[in-house]
Amino acid sequence: MSGPDSPLKSHIMPSYNRASLRFASGDGAWLTTTDGEKYLDFGSGVAVNTLGHSHPKLVHAMTEQAQKLWHVSNLYEIPEQEALATTLCQNSFAELVFFNNSGAEAAEGMIKTMRKYHATNGHPEKVTLISFAGAFHGRTLAALAAAGNEAYLEGFGPAPTGFVQCPSFDIEQLEALIDDTTAGILIEPVQGEGGVRDVGTDFLRALRALCDKHDILLGFDEVQCGIGRTGKLFAHEWADITPDIMAIAKGIGGGFPLGAVLATREVGSVMQPGTHGSTYGGNPLGCRVGSAVLETVLEDGFLEHVQDMAVYLRQHLARIVDENRDIFAGLRGSGLMVGLECVVPNMEIVTALREANLLSVGAGENTLRLLPPLNIEKPDMDTAIAAIETACEALRKTHQGDLS
Ligand SMILES: *Cc1c(COP(=O)(O)O)cnc(C)c1O
Repeated sequence: MSGPDSPLKSHIMPSYNRASLRFASGDGAWLTTTDGEKYLDFGSGVAVNTLGHSHPKLVHAMTEQAQKLWHVSNLYEIPEQEALATTLCQNSFAELVFFNNSGAEAAEGMIKTMRKYHATNGHPEKVTLISFAGAFHGRTLAALAAAGNEAYLEGFGPAPTGFVQCPSFDIEQLEALIDDTTAGILIEPVQGEGGVRDVGTDFLRALRALCDKHDILLGFDEVQCGIGRTGKLFAHEWADITPDIMAIAKGIGGGFPLGAVLATREVGSVMQPGTHGSTYGGNPLGCRVGSAVLETVLEDGFLEHVQDMAVYLRQHLARIVDENRDIFAGLRGSGLMVGLECVVPNMEIVTALREANLLSVGAGENTLRLLPPLNIEKPDMDTAIAAIETACEALRKTHQGDLS
C-alpha cells in the first residue's frame, strides 16, 4: 500500500506528486508493476531511457564494468572517461568535456564556465546570462535563477544574481537586453518542461550571429533534447550551427546518472586545475554505460529510425488531434520529443492514458509530453496510438456535457 491511506508513514520527503504505481521490471518500451500489470513507457523516465529498459548492450556494459571497477575519483586518470569524451567530441562541435552526474550540474557547470571564460580573458564584468521565458535548467539555485521561474524560487531565499530573462523568442527584444555585462545566452533548442517548444532553426541561426556580433558565448542546454531525441545526435544540428558550450545529461546515461559540459577548446580550457570539480563525475561505471548508449545511437541507421518513427507517430497524432479537437489543440516539438497541446487539463489526460496502460509526462503551457525510447518499433507505436484513442473516448465520457 502507498499513498495517503497507507498504514505506514513514508520516510520520503513529500516533494513529488507520485502516481500510485510501483514497477518491478522493465523490458524495452514496457514496464511491469509489482502486481504484474504492463505499461507502455512513453515517458522514458523523462527522456532518460534512450534505449528503453534492460537493453542487453547497456546491461552488458554495466555488469562487465561493475565486476572490474566502479569509482576511483578524479585524482587519477580514467580511461573510460577519456573514451566517452573522445566519442562525444568526434561527433559534435566540442573539443573538451567535463563530466558530472545530472542536468542541473551540467547547466551549472556551463554557467560557471561561461563566466570564467570572460574573467580569464580580462572581462570579469561579463557575468550576465540571458535566458528565455519558459526555460528549465534544473533545480540548483543558479539553474533556477537562470530559468527565472518564480514559483520554483519561492521560499528558498536570495537567488544568485546575474541572470536576465528574455520574454519571447524575438531577436530584437533579445538584442536590447545585451550590454557590457553580458556573458552569453542560455537556451534549450527545444524547451522540454516549459511546454515542448521547438525554438526553430531560424532563431538558432540568428542567435549564433548575434553572439558573434557582440562577442558573447552561446550556450545550449540539450539535457532533454540531445542524444538523438530529435532525430539528430544534438537538436541544434538541424540548424547547421554550433554553440560555444553545451550541457547534456538525461539521455546520455540511458538511466545511469550522467551529465556533461561540452565546449570548444577555447572556452573549455579556462577551467584549469582547481576551478571546478565533481567527486563522482565521470566515474568508470557511468562512462562505460554512456559509451554503450552513444555507440548504439551512432550505429548506421539509428537516427534515421528515430526520424522515421517520429514521422509515423506525428502523422497519427495529427489525425488524433483533428478528430479530438475537444481534447487536443495541436502538436509541438521535434522528432520523438512530442508535445500535445491540451484543451482539457493535461494531467487529466496523463491519468486517462495511464488508465489505458500508456505512460506519459505533463509539461508547461498545458502540454502533454510523449518521449518514447528511441529504439521504439512500429508495433509498440501502434499500441500507444490505440491507447491514446481509448483515452480520448474515456475522457469524452467523463466530460460529457462540458465538452462540445
Ligand atoms: C531535466 C532538465 C534539467 C535538469 O536535469 P536534472 O538531471 O534533473 O538535474 C536541465 N535542463 C533541462 C533542459 C532539462 O530537461
